[in-house]
Amino acid sequence: MAFLEISHLKKGFGTGENHIEVLKDINLKVSQGEFCVLLGPSGSGKSTLLNIIGGIDQANSGDIHIHGERMADMNEKTLTLYRRKHLGYIFQMYNLIPNLTIRENIEVGAYLSEKPLDVDELLHTLGLYDHRKKLPNQLSGGQQQRTAIGRAIVKNPDILLCDEPTGALDYATSKEILKLIETVNQKYGNTIIMVTHNDAIQNMADRVVRLRDGHIRSNTLNAQKVPAEQLDW
Ligand code: ADP
Ligand code: MG
Repeated sequence: MAFLEISHLKKGFGTGENHIEVLKDINLKVSQGEFCVLLGPSGSGKSTLLNIIGGIDQANSGDIHIHGERMADMNEKTLTLYRRKHLGYIFQMYNLIPNLTIRENIEVGAYLSEKPLDVDELLHTLGLYDHRKKLPNQLSGGQQQRTAIGRAIVKNPDILLCDEPTGALDYATSKEILKLIETVNQKYGNTIIMVTHNDAIQNMADRVVRLRDGHIRSNTLNAQKVPAEQLDW
């Protein structure tokens, strides 16, 4: 069984004539340490799929196995523990705590972790060591997103779920963040599933999955990855 295995996953919203089937039959296998990019038009269900993998939304049917563990078999308590210990989440919005320092915001992510990373080393990797005592509003958008990445990875999660992490950033800052996510994947070996609607980003991934009309339209492995540094759009 693959590290992350999704089979016959279905998800709809609403009832009666307002009902929409968002995910109709999703089947996907992702290996440990793989960098997977999820593409698809707006409204195609990318965030919904990510939220179901992350345990913050529930499928109507189908199965997800992570590390051989079936998510549907987890109860509320084990699912919460699972999420805290094994999953990291990065969103378009950074949602930092305004009255905590950069270092403290990152430390929040280590809550209940069994094997947190060394925070000083992480601050250096993130390029934030010199900013560690500042508050979020003293930093640029890119630096705040780097802080949010630090908060997500300080517990060294098995899976890092990224929902349009560069959606609010300009070109140069987006590249900085993509380079950082690439570094995280290579240095810490976290499996990454990153949602984007930027087609150029697919070239830095191991696996490219395209979602449309509730189905996976294509699922390909990149024979040759392009370093984030060389991406252009
Ligand atoms: P994407 O991230 O690809 O843009 P989403 O997963 O956010 O797409 O949404 C897919 C579809 O599901 C959209 O039509 C959206 O309006 C709908 N949707 C998402 N979440 C909910 C919800 N909580 N209630 C009702 N409809 C939802
Ligand atoms: Mg979305």
